[in-house]
Amino acid sequence: MEFKREEFLRAVEGCLSAEFATDLERANKKELYNAVSKALMEQIYPDWEASGRSEKKRCAYFSAEFLMGRAIFSNLLNLGVLDDVTGALASVGEDLKQFEEVEDAALGNGGLGRLAACYLESAASKRLPLDGYGIRYRYGLFRQTFRDGYQHEEGDDWLRWGDPWSVRVERDAVEVRFADQTVRAVPYDMPIFGYRNNVVNTLRLWSAEPVQAFDFASFNEMRGENKAADNFNATKITDVLYPNDNTMVGKILRLRQQYFMVSASLQDVVRKLKARGKDLRELPRSYVFQLNDTHPVLAIPELLRILQEEGLSFDEAFAVCGQAFNFTNHTIMAEALEKWDALALSDLLPGVYEQIVAVQQRLESEAPADGRYYIIRDNVVHMANLAIYVCAKVNGVAEIHTNILKTDIFRDWYELYPEKFVNITNGITPRRWLLLNNPALAAIIDGKIGTDWHTDLKALKKLKPFIPDILGDFKRVKGENKAKLAAYIKEHEGVDIPPHFIFDVQVKRLHEYKRQMLNALSILYFYHKIKSGEMTDFPPTAFIFGAKAAPGYYNAKAIIKFINEIARLVNSDEEVAPYMRVVFVQNYNVSYAEKIVCAADVSEQISMAGMEASGTGNMKFMLNGTVTLGTLDGANVEICEEAGRNNNYIFGATVEEVAAIKRFYSPREIVEQDPALKRAVETLVDGTFPDEKGMLRKLHESLLTVHNPDRYLVLFDFNDYVRVKEELLRDFGSDAYYTKCLMNVCSAGKFSADRSVNDYARLIWKIR
Ligand SMILES: *Cc1c(COP(=O)(O)O)cnc(C)c1O
Repeated sequence: MEFKREEFLRAVEGCLSAEFATDLERANKKELYNAVSKALMEQIYPDWEASGRSEKKRCAYFSAEFLMGRAIFSNLLNLGVLDDVTGALASVGEDLKQFEEVEDAALGNGGLGRLAACYLESAASKRLPLDGYGIRYRYGLFRQTFRDGYQHEEGDDWLRWGDPWSVRVERDAVEVRFADQTVRAVPYDMPIFGYRNNVVNTLRLWSAEPVQAFDFASFNEMRGENKAADNFNATKITDVLYPNDNTMVGKILRLRQQYFMVSASLQDVVRKLKARGKDLRELPRSYVFQLNDTHPVLAIPELLRILQEEGLSFDEAFAVCGQAFNFTNHTIMAEALEKWDALALSDLLPGVYEQIVAVQQRLESEAPADGRYYIIRDNVVHMANLAIYVCAKVNGVAEIHTNILKTDIFRDWYELYPEKFVNITNGITPRRWLLLNNPALAAIIDGKIGTDWHTDLKALKKLKPFIPDILGDFKRVKGENKAKLAAYIKEHEGVDIPPHFIFDVQVKRLHEYKRQMLNALSILYFYHKIKSGEMTDFPPTAFIFGAKAAPGYYNAKAIIKFINEIARLVNSDEEVAPYMRVVFVQNYNVSYAEKIVCAADVSEQISMAGMEASGTGNMKFMLNGTVTLGTLDGANVEICEEAGRNNNYIFGATVEEVAAIKRFYSPREIVEQDPALKRAVETLVDGTFPDEKGMLRKLHESLLTVHNPDRYLVLFDFNDYVRVKEELLRDFGSDAYYTKCLMNVCSAGKFSADRSVNDYARLIWKIR
């Protein structure tokens, strides 16, 4: 984008006066933020309009979650005007950094939603015609605070700062029908800017509204009650994001959200095609759909329904769906696989249910009748099975994960349709996750190999021969990033972290399979060794956690409480103060991640092997020059392939071993044989920590006494974990150690979301 300072400032002034009746001198932060954003929106409009006019085949990415984070800095970077706008604002005495207070658009839970956001950015940067379709939640993922170590949740009022990066498109509103109500879906379009290439794609988020505005006339005639109730119900559909990550909640409101989103999106697509005079049988020539997990899978029966309403036969409609739809699986965890009660579904969406039944009949006529293939069974609808049966392609998100799909959870389907299954390893956008969050490291790299890597991350390998030259600069920048993070943590969490400590980081959603518990127990292990005098030379380390627990996930909340208690114990102990600190940061989100990832020395990726489909946090750390302390799980496997296993720290049971161990596993025996481990585990119940609610006792039970104790092999992997962790912490600081960090940077090329979307485009979408 071409930038003219005077013109830009005039546009900002114009917006301030028109929208807020104020001027540059008197505007507050919020007014300035809105005016700056709107001034830019006005300028990019022609490019956006041009992108929308193209009749090339497009991909529509359907996702219940888009974890976008803060828009303004990323948009300025991609428009190529970050420095220009910084300068223009400085010339009128304003600091662009003040917008760091703007709320994130946290319309997602974790990795799955962040992946969708990275893919939109990468597709625009690679000139791929990809649009996002989702839900404009009024409240995003809850805001987390800690009180006395317990998680508290507050509504996330992300629109408090306004939403200048969206446009409400009234003319494209559609109606969505449920058995008991009809609501209006109004789209809000967000521009997605390619990196310095004038491409503008669209994220279209639907907001639910009543079909008719509140009717005062009939209300006055005392027929108002029902209307008022409809008003209430309509907006409720898009009120709030369900805060569950990797678990499914069978709430009818959730089903309403899912249908609302896919019905509105498909009506949008069909209307566009009809407006262009297209035969809907040819839909797959114009559109391909990617279903991000099972949340949007109702799109399949909904498109069947719509196409038949438009005059196609069932077989014709089925043929269209079989070519147009593709499905990404994100997890193998049983509790995450979506299942809906058939009666509830048919009550709410009879027309859609009818289509699912018809698909089931078609499946029965095609597949072996040995009970392995079903969509509806025992009055339960299995959404993943519906997706696999109909979709052209089914993909896992890392090599190890796709192999588990083929050989384990979907092996029967793989036997029937081997050609459907493909792997597309996840990726992250290097713009947000290096250029934007770590400009000083980016500048070091630019200085040695130029800027090709900004849009071709594989080019980072050209940096290898320069590693010895830049070791000093890398250390300096890492030190500066750590000092900044320490200051931020001091201000926001009230905890002192000496910047010269090793920053050992585990940030991600709180889940038992991710094993924050393993990390916590290791801290107690080292703490006890330091206290007893057995370890007098422990390398000074700050253990940094960040994670939200789903509000209804008891054990996850208990683990947060446990780690907060450990933090209190450790941080108030003067004897160990020279060796360790522990902090659990509140409200971990994309903006916090940007600050943490560039300042980390250790990336904890310690899920039980087989459980983390891919992970993308691991890739962010790698790209920023952090070694991984991890299991051979998800994309960690490929990180080791790319960077060399000797440049990371791997421990624990492998997928194959996990299966074997589970057959004879006795966590009791393991604890009894290991006094140091036993001491750490017993802190849950021995009075070390107050436990007035009995939460810690429950954690103790989950490790040792419940049926199927220690499901995620925390105790089994403990020994290997502390061994490798200590080795890592002792290696820290040498030139050899920093060389490992930089070998990870040089090897991160594969994990660009640019590569991922290119793979999707080539192998699945067939778009250019
Ligand atoms: C990247 C990211 C995640 C995903 O992290 P994993 O370690 O892959 O689970 C979750 N939340 C936020 C805010 C992120 O930026």
